[in-house]
Amino acid sequence: MAQQEDVFKKLISHCKEYGFVFPSSEIYDGLGAVYDYGQNGVELKNNIKKYWWDSMVLLNENVVGIDSAIFMHPTIWKASGHVDAFNDPLIDNKDSKKRYRADVLIEELLAKYDEKIEKEIEKAAKKFGETFDETKFRGTNPRVLENQEKRDEIHNRFVKALNDGDLEELRQIIIDYEVVCPVSGTRNWTEVRQFNLMFSTEMGSTADGSMKVYLRPETAQGIFVNFLNVQKTGRMKIPFGIAQIGKAFRNEIVARQFIFRMREFEQMEMQFFVRPGEELEWFARWKEIRMKWHQALGFGKNKYRFHDHDKLAHYANAATDIEFEMPFGFKEVEGIHSRTDFDLGSHEKYSGKKIQYFDPELNKSYIPYVIETSIGVDRMFLSIMSASYCEEQLEDGESRVVLKLPPALAPVKLAVLPLVKKDGLPEKAREIIDALKFDFKCMYDEKDSIGKRYRRQDAIGTPYCVTVDHQTREDRTVTIRHRDSMAQERVSIDDLSKIIIGRVSMKNLFKES
Ligand code: ATP
Repeated sequence: MAQQEDVFKKLISHCKEYGFVFPSSEIYDGLGAVYDYGQNGVELKNNIKKYWWDSMVLLNENVVGIDSAIFMHPTIWKASGHVDAFNDPLIDNKDSKKRYRADVLIEELLAKYDEKIEKEIEKAAKKFGETFDETKFRGTNPRVLENQEKRDEIHNRFVKALNDGDLEELRQIIIDYEVVCPVSGTRNWTEVRQFNLMFSTEMGSTADGSMKVYLRPETAQGIFVNFLNVQKTGRMKIPFGIAQIGKAFRNEIVARQFIFRMREFEQMEMQFFVRPGEELEWFARWKEIRMKWHQALGFGKNKYRFHDHDKLAHYANAATDIEFEMPFGFKEVEGIHSRTDFDLGSHEKYSGKKIQYFDPELNKSYIPYVIETSIGVDRMFLSIMSASYCEEQLEDGESRVVLKLPPALAPVKLAVLPLVKKDGLPEKAREIIDALKFDFKCMYDEKDSIGKRYRRQDAIGTPYCVTVDHQTREDRTVTIRHRDSMAQERVSIDDLSKIIIGRVSMKNLFKES
């Protein structure tokens, strides 16, 4: 664990040192849980957004996009339930004065029991080798059974407390199972209180009665209130989806873990409208599609898992998270929810406008049901960075830090490096860039030894470096150096465009997903 924390710290400094992520307002000592993306970060982020957008809007005839405003009529947040129910249960440790989400403390407690059980199983699997029967072991080993019983007991109390909105019981679980504050190490806890996460501000001048408006805590509502606009003007037929990428704001109280939990972040959400009664089938379908999209990045299937929700939100009849193994454990990256007709129905009620779809095949009107896929760009960014970050020991005794980013997502696709700063080599390198820069992001670098320049490109994840040397001038060939294998191949300048495009194209990801 300590080792993983170490990796996480290194990753955060790497993000800063190589222009991926900076703390916001750094010269003023920063602003809590707000971050800026640097010159390489913004490229990676844009590529992630493109991968998502194209997989939704380009590849599906029945999914279209919108871009709605951040400010919306305040009644929208009444209708959506965010004014009354967008609360986190908070608890403070009186000694460290640190604030925590009570539900997160209990989830971490559950994870500890899971870890204990997994350790027992791992140990036994090693001991018994091929003859090991995991199901039997789980059902008979006294230590596993004892831990499983405790876990189930906590879990049942937790789910009941969440569903009943019973804050005292949440606190009692923390007390009964002796959860300590990671900072002070004590069990001196306050009561659990509710806290609304929405930011608000004033719109209009205060003199003539201004209006309290919220910064949206999710992009989804902008889609719901435009449902009829899009359906009618796009002549969309159910089933169809509306996708959107945009900023969202939450006044997160416990904002730690770098860009995992931010106060200003970006979401990629798609609402898929279906016939009532068909929603669970579509839910299963989207679960599969979304998991494949993640796995196509090639980090290994074991990095992902589904986590079904213990407590369904007030609007949902099924919900799951796609979790990714971050350096601090498996964490939610994407939520997939079957939101029923709650949102459209509620907007119909609050706005007094009919929000229904006439289904020509069924010859009747209804409020469509909705499957939502909702993913945070920043969490996706963090998952990709942590899976790509490698420290490698090389054969010559040296070491290197390399970001093994999927080539289609890398900020720079190709670095062009003249071997020396003379003999017309820089000009030749510039010529190559001028021919290729329309197709993908290239970078020129002539400073320091070629080895140092390779390391700089490794550190930002550039999949290919081209070196221009004296032979280039004679036969129009260059060497391509591959980031991961460090192998080199000699190719003609005239073939470069085709070779690189073929390897960095997003099509490669889509073929896998
Ligand atoms: P959590 O339980 O971690 O607070 P959530 O279940 O409230 O997350 P959703 O409301 O389902 O999250 O939001 C959908 C997605 O938006 C999440 O899967 C996550 O990727 C992203 N997201 C939510 N809150 C934040 C945040 N504060 N910072 C960065 N990304 C976020």
